[in-house]
Amino acid sequence: MVRGPKNKLGNRIAATILVVALLPILLSTIGTLSTIHDITDAAVLEGQRQVTLAVESVQKNSLENQTKLVNAELSKIENSVSYLATVSQQVLSHPELFKPLKDATALKKEADGYEWTPISSNKNLTTVFIGKGARLSSGSLADIGRTKYLEPLFVNALAQDSHAVAAYIILRESITRIYPQLDFHTMIAKGWFPAEFDPYQFNFFYTADPTHDPARKVVWTAPYLDVTGRGWMVTSLMPIYLENGQFRGIVGVDVTLQNLVKGILDDIHFQQPGAYAFLLRSDGQVIAAQPKGYSSLDISGTKSANLLQLGNQQLSAAARQIGAGGSGLLTVDLHGLKQYLFYAPLGVNGWSMVFAVPVAEVVNPIEDTIQANTRKQVQTLELRAITTSLLALVLVVILAVLFSYRVTRPIRQLMAAVGTLGNGDNGVQIPVTQKDEIGLLVLTFNEMSARMKNLVENLEAKVRERTSLLRKALERQKEVNRKILASERARRTLIASVSHELRTPISAIQGYTEALRDGIVKDPQEVANYLEIIYRRVIGLNILIDDLFCLSRLEAHLPMDIQTYGATPLLTQFAGALKTELEVAKLSLEVEIQANLPGICVDKERLNQVVVNLVTNAIKFTPAGGKISFRAYAAENVMVEVSDTGIGIAPEDLTHIFERFYRGKRNPLRRTRGHGLGLTIVKEIIEAMGGQIWVFSQPGQGCTFTFSLPVEPAGHENKLSEN
Ligand code: ADP
Repeated sequence: MVRGPKNKLGNRIAATILVVALLPILLSTIGTLSTIHDITDAAVLEGQRQVTLAVESVQKNSLENQTKLVNAELSKIENSVSYLATVSQQVLSHPELFKPLKDATALKKEADGYEWTPISSNKNLTTVFIGKGARLSSGSLADIGRTKYLEPLFVNALAQDSHAVAAYIILRESITRIYPQLDFHTMIAKGWFPAEFDPYQFNFFYTADPTHDPARKVVWTAPYLDVTGRGWMVTSLMPIYLENGQFRGIVGVDVTLQNLVKGILDDIHFQQPGAYAFLLRSDGQVIAAQPKGYSSLDISGTKSANLLQLGNQQLSAAARQIGAGGSGLLTVDLHGLKQYLFYAPLGVNGWSMVFAVPVAEVVNPIEDTIQANTRKQVQTLELRAITTSLLALVLVVILAVLFSYRVTRPIRQLMAAVGTLGNGDNGVQIPVTQKDEIGLLVLTFNEMSARMKNLVENLEAKVRERTSLLRKALERQKEVNRKILASERARRTLIASVSHELRTPISAIQGYTEALRDGIVKDPQEVANYLEIIYRRVIGLNILIDDLFCLSRLEAHLPMDIQTYGATPLLTQFAGALKTELEVAKLSLEVEIQANLPGICVDKERLNQVVVNLVTNAIKFTPAGGKISFRAYAAENVMVEVSDTGIGIAPEDLTHIFERFYRGKRNPLRRTRGHGLGLTIVKEIIEAMGGQIWVFSQPGQGCTFTFSLPVEPAGHENKLSEN
């Protein structure tokens, strides 16, 4: 695979995916953990609630049961009281049926003004007490005798009910019969009991009087400190109404609180160590409580046992609510401790049984149990949530890396390929592995790369072509430069040669002319000779100047008058013009001109100059008696040949004879002959017309000049110029 630079994009993509995914995972984890805690808290709360409800229910049931038991106990007492009251009514309403009975001991009037029946040794007897100043009526004493009928009932009542400590009847004029016997003498002597006992002053009487008990039902007193020294007491009492409707007195059964608590409250047991039970009367009076209750309610010692008077608003409100009857649950604050107060009425007498249970002792153990149970589950759930999140995280990391690799691999391949392109490796192709935008990018790159390769190849071809053209142009330029240099050299040589060529005749002319001017030569014949020499030099100069002029025109490539001529007639015409001159030179002329030669494209005058120059040279270098041949024949072009039987040209001269001012090194006529420009002019003219010239020679065997003339192009035969 193609490796690119450090995978920064990939890292960025992976990091982005991680960040994007991490956040929801974190949030989800936090959310899950928080939810677990919420659910757990809710579960704990719900558990607490449920268990609290269960506890409440248990307490209520227990309370109900206890209430029933207590009610049963109290009912027993009330039933006894009710029975005693009924019997009393009968006994007192029917004097004709119930004759007064005599007590074992007679009534004894004491010094303090009261009367009583002193204690007898018989435990089953009652004591009669008449308060000082009691306003006795005529029937009062008889009624005392009648109440004795109750004596066995009193004994029976106490025997039947372990809670009862005393049973008695008090008639409204302060006549009391009580069982068991009481030592009134001692009690009054010690000041525990008043000699002038007025029953209306004591709750164990007035609670059932017509004012306090208009319904004439069994009632209960508030707890009171017993006047007979038996401690705290409550009394169940009932009024006695005669059959004529007259209120006659009450019957009552005393129950000491100690007994009551022992008999009723002691049987109540709580699981909660701080819980206790107490009996509450509707006016807020605590009738009895389990020992813990006295400290908890703060009613021990001398303090009032009435909850309405303790200064605790919550407790007062609770007491009022409980006193209103009904059953339920209240929560109060006692000394900073929350307490549940479960309450239920004791049906028979308007009392309520209350269970006080510290809230903490109900809730805390539940909380502890539930938390102990749930903590383990919470830990398991948390572990699961965290493990799941970690797994998700690992998955996201793997996916992010894979995804970023998948996304960036083609890009890195592209980068590497682009790098390869940069190194000149055109046409590189990347395998397309994806059908998405990146795949499209790779495809586009491949296409671009291929096109680039084509482009580069085309460019290279063009560059090669241009280079070749340039090289050719350079060659041409070099050739031109060479020519320019050669031309320059030639020019310099020409100037030097021309100067040289001019200097010689001009010096001669100068010398001869000076000699004539200075009169050094006076002989007329010699003067004539001098003038002849001067004249010939001038002629020579003239020819030289003509030749130079002609040459310069040729080299300047001045346009020539090229026309098409029939080669045969034209050359025949030229040959004819040579005859006279050859005769003068005593040379024979051989002319062989092929008939019907094609038309040639030439400057007629120039061509004539060529023929004249060649023939002139031939005449010059051919001794008299020699022969000069003029031939023309058709080859590829029209070929013209001028040959002589003269002295020929030395091999070392052959290559130079067409150069300017070259006259041959061993040329015997060198000093007297021309300026060495003739052949140069000939060659220039022939080449200017598009032909070529060659020379063949052997010293002493004459020489042959052959030149070609361009023929007219095919199809132009009829456009010959007139000769
Ligand atoms: P020139 O004016 O001196 O004749 P050319 O250019 O015509 O100059 O000739 C150059 C030289 O070539 C001559 O000097 C001569 O040496 C040689 N040459 C030319 N034509 C002939 C010929 N037909 N036979 C022998 N030598 C010749």
